[in-house]
Amino acid sequence: MNTLKMKDWGLGLGKHVVIAGPCSVETEKQIDDLCNSFEHEPQIGMFRGGIWKPRTRPGNFEGLGEEALPWLQKVKSRLHIPVCVEVANTSHVEAALKHDIDVLWIGARTTVNPFSVQEIADSLRGVDIPVMVKNPINPDLALWVGALERMHDVGINKLAAIHRGFADPYDKIYRNKPNWNLAMQLKLELPEIEIINDPSHISGKWEMVQSVAQRALNFGIDGLMIETHPTPAEAWSDARQQLNPEQLLTLLKEISFRERIDFENQIPENLKEMRNSIDHIDQKLIDLLSDRFHLIDKVGAYKKAHELSVYQGGRWKDVLESRIKLGTEKDMSEKFMKNLLIAIHDESIKRQEKQIANKDVEPLTII
Ligand code: PEP
Ligand code: MN
Repeated sequence: MNTLKMKDWGLGLGKHVVIAGPCSVETEKQIDDLCNSFEHEPQIGMFRGGIWKPRTRPGNFEGLGEEALPWLQKVKSRLHIPVCVEVANTSHVEAALKHDIDVLWIGARTTVNPFSVQEIADSLRGVDIPVMVKNPINPDLALWVGALERMHDVGINKLAAIHRGFADPYDKIYRNKPNWNLAMQLKLELPEIEIINDPSHISGKWEMVQSVAQRALNFGIDGLMIETHPTPAEAWSDARQQLNPEQLLTLLKEISFRERIDFENQIPENLKEMRNSIDHIDQKLIDLLSDRFHLIDKVGAYKKAHELSVYQGGRWKDVLESRIKLGTEKDMSEKFMKNLLIAIHDESIKRQEKQIANKDVEPLTII
């Protein structure tokens, strides 16, 4: 009989599931220590442990492999929660299935390669196991969606996506830049798939894990995967970003889990009223913008007739400065006002250039 709490998971992974466990499984004691800490903590919904570790350069710890799988089986019988591991090829899949691993995940370095993803998918044909797919290293939504589709096409329907951020060598804040918009776009493309956020790999440092996790929950993310180690400073991989169990439990107390409302029939009346008012305001904004562009066209006709340049730097400077002042006095940020005005001005210039040339012109940004 299946004693795991799978039935609570809805699609397979449930509401606000918290997945915790070490980056790498290192010793049996490490896993026992974590079990002792999690034993009476119902919030921990799944245990993670890396046993095949894809490392960028050779010579680093690459995971213990199959010898660590029995320790994860022990976690299941001690905590009665599912356990998950990363698989990167078909022999990993075979070993994981042989040792009753409940959930598999595809790592970011594997998601980038459709051949590898397809091989793993083929080895899972006919197997009823949930699969989580991490986003690829690079910010390419289609690769992420494609990997989920490959799993779906072989009959895996308990699917989740893991948002672990994207490599960006120029970013100074994150280890992997979140690009929240990509996670939101995935949700729009595949609304039935749950998204788990991995604040550990996004932040790269334990101090930032909580704020990233909260941000993810504010965006309506469905769960969290947080790397947890009994003694993070001594971890064999990702030492800088792992939390100890006490830190994890404090984080879970302090963050606020937030509901996402996706369906019309779930929307409360008060919210509907406020949204109606917003719809009216948007209609007015669009009417006003349209009036403004009609005037821009009249000015364009005047400039054409009098051979004046379309771009008038002095006027643009005045418009920019005066409107930013008006906006900031009404509690809108300077950056927002500037972006808004640039969008309007660019469109105005484009319309007037088109009038003069009698054809479309390349888009252009003038600041
Ligand atoms: C991991 O979860 O430890 C891991 C290797 O993650 P990623 O594939 O996101 O780099
Ligand atoms: Mn890791």
